[in-house]
Amino acid sequence: MTRILHRQTRNPLPVAVAGEGPYVIDSAGRRYLDASGGAAVSCLGHSHRGVIEAIKAQLDALPYAHTSFFTNEPAEALAEHLTSRAPAGISHVYFVSGGSEANETAFKLARQYFWNRGERERSRIIARQQSYHGNTLGALAVGGNAGRRAVYEPLLIEVSHIEPCYAYRHRRDDESEEAYGERAAAALEAEILRLGPGTVMAFVAETVVGATLGAVPPAPGYFRRIREICDRYGILLILDEVMSGMGRTGTLFACEQDGVTPDIVTCAKGLGAGYQPIGACLMSSTIYDTIAASPEGFQHGFTYIGHASACAGALAVQRAIEAEGLLDNCRKQGIRLAEALGQRFAQHAHVGDIRGRGLFIGVELVADRETKQPFAAQDRLNARVKAEAMEAGLMCYPAGGTADGVSGDHILLAPPFIITPSQVEEIVDKLAVAVDGAIAEVR
Ligand code: PLP
Repeated sequence: MTRILHRQTRNPLPVAVAGEGPYVIDSAGRRYLDASGGAAVSCLGHSHRGVIEAIKAQLDALPYAHTSFFTNEPAEALAEHLTSRAPAGISHVYFVSGGSEANETAFKLARQYFWNRGERERSRIIARQQSYHGNTLGALAVGGNAGRRAVYEPLLIEVSHIEPCYAYRHRRDDESEEAYGERAAAALEAEILRLGPGTVMAFVAETVVGATLGAVPPAPGYFRRIREICDRYGILLILDEVMSGMGRTGTLFACEQDGVTPDIVTCAKGLGAGYQPIGACLMSSTIYDTIAASPEGFQHGFTYIGHASACAGALAVQRAIEAEGLLDNCRKQGIRLAEALGQRFAQHAHVGDIRGRGLFIGVELVADRETKQPFAAQDRLNARVKAEAMEAGLMCYPAGGTADGVSGDHILLAPPFIITPSQVEEIVDKLAVAVDGAIAEVR
């Protein structure tokens, strides 16, 4: 009997004991192809020797030294690696232990930036409906996912939520992709004007929406328009790339493909690829300079910031991605996977949409393809797909199926960048079995 409060307590979990490339092996010897990288984490698979050796070497030299006394070499080298590849204008980084901490850091950085500049009325954040930015109370308040928030309301910070950029459900039939992007971005300006421009400090969005909508990329031009609006009103643009960053979409930062530089960008999952828990909050030189010049310094910190072994692991991961040309494979296999899914599900009565970027792909399931009517939330279709997939030896990350019917159940696929063409086929074959099995249970 387990003594752990797991996320779900109904069914006992298999015990993971080993990893082999993109496979996880349980204590009964069953193999699971990790088609979601856990939760878009394991971009190198589960047994990269170079990364493991780098972490061991750092543990031998120095596992950890508190950053109020010292900096350390792996943290400095990782900061250099990331900032030298980040969009122009991003100059400094703050290392934490995961995505929620990275976002908490981003929000406090934004607040202190305006505080130090004497713009103290700017405390409001605008984010988007159906978004997820982490589970600590600040990050949860910024997220617009009704289900995750409900139990914990009232939340700590006042945040307003505009509609997400979600073409499958919100683009009108007579509208081009670009016109839709323009219209979706205009919602930000309207909300800024409603709140009063001088009271807003930041707009927060995932560049490509992961867990809550299932790999939904922005419409073309959406973020360029958002950037213009933020600039017009002196508001910071914070992009959450905790899930979509670090190569997952085929470029190191997902926003490179949208031609925008955020003021702050957060990343986590793929940064350490699961070998170590680590997240990062990258910031513009303007923000860094303002806070560095303030008498109080940054009024924030965690015990494990800049953790030496975590940074050594992440540095080895990021170097391996470059040395092994894995962004290239991510782009190639991403196209292959999207095409294979498209072919397999082209005529499927319950697959409404397949979208994404790179190896970050979402499949949205609907009760009716014509009307896009989702399955009933109480059918728990996405949980059934997950269970059927595990039965078939496949890990995928299903979510959605919100009670309000604003989106369908979806399956997020985010396999490791080392995936091969035959493993892509294995994903599609097993997923088709899982989807049909789950739908048969509810029809
Ligand atoms: N932001 C996004 C976009 C995420 O997908 C997640 C986790 O799924 C988080 C933040 C929170 O990250 P963590 O679970 O590492 O705290």
